[in-house]
Amino acid sequence: MGVGGAVERLLAGRWIAGPEARDALARTKRFNAVNIKAVINYLGEELIDERAVADAEMVYLSLIDMIRESGARADISMKPSQLGLRINPEEASARYGRIVARARGAGVFAWLDMERPEDVDATISMYEGNPGGTGICVQSYLRRSAADLERLCSGGAVVRLVKGAYSAGLDIAFQSRLETTKNYEVLMDYLFAHAREFVIATHDLDMINRARSLNRERGKHVWYAMLSGIRNRYAAALARENESVEIYVPFGPRWVDYSYRRLREASHLTLLIRSMASRQSI
Ligand SMILES: Cc1cc2nc3c(=O)[nH]c(=O)nc-3n(C[C@H](O)[C@H](O)[C@H](O)COP(=O)(O)OP(=O)(O)OC[C@H]3O[C@@H](n4cnc5c(N)ncnc54)[C@H](O)[C@@H]3O)c2cc1C
Repeated sequence: MGVGGAVERLLAGRWIAGPEARDALARTKRFNAVNIKAVINYLGEELIDERAVADAEMVYLSLIDMIRESGARADISMKPSQLGLRINPEEASARYGRIVARARGAGVFAWLDMERPEDVDATISMYEGNPGGTGICVQSYLRRSAADLERLCSGGAVVRLVKGAYSAGLDIAFQSRLETTKNYEVLMDYLFAHAREFVIATHDLDMINRARSLNRERGKHVWYAMLSGIRNRYAAALARENESVEIYVPFGPRWVDYSYRRLREASHLTLLIRSMASRQSI
């Protein structure tokens, strides 16, 4: 492995709990101890191999059992393409339905991540086909998201609002961080006006402060969510101030795609170096 590979592995170790479900549960316990809920994701995406997709289903089913048996405070979050969306959307939806049914029985909330723009319609269909105890992600970089949010909120959806970890052409997506952030504000306002419970998932302190200030008047049930290894201490401070906080905890051997997205987002090298050098207190 070259120097590049070593750096990638070091960073992946900060962002990812480890290869096994028990690693994710161990990290969950650390977060739970400071009053933070975990959202556990089994890494894997763009799967086009039936066996890998069936394996992902088994992993989620057993993860749900492990969460129930351990008494951990944790939700799960799945990528549609790891459940086979690219192979057969109907089967992917059935697989998602089986996982949701097991999660519901165990009192575990089940999230659907949002991936590429081409998958948004199929992901919303998967979500709407399995209501109850589930939530879906909406990305502010997409121009269509205001309409999606309206449709989802009118059906009583629980939404996790993110900026989006993907990119797309000018016709369908905002290109700059500034525009994406402006749209994040617009969508946040919509959630405050039309939803009771939702998740503000960002490390952008301006957006978090804005949501907190809006919520002092509106009194909604707002969760603040971050990715593991980016602002853990800040998340713990928010939880100490009695906010509802959750941290997304990925695990599994397929760490490369996830880590590259995080690397791209770490906006400058100083931030990365500081992030690598700092000791995570939780
Ligand atoms: C709980 C959760 C679930 C998510 N689910 C999805 C999903 O389903 N689909 C999807 O497309 N995206 C998802 N995302 C990712 C999201 O879309 C963004 O890509 C990611 O959160 C970075 O954007 P930001 O909102 O933090 O804002 P940015 O403007 O990108 O970042 C704000 C600040 O946070 C810090 N920061 C951000 N990223 C890093 C990093 N990697 N290293 C160090 N510092 C960093 C920097 O200080 C930066 O200036 C999720 C994010 C969270 C927190």
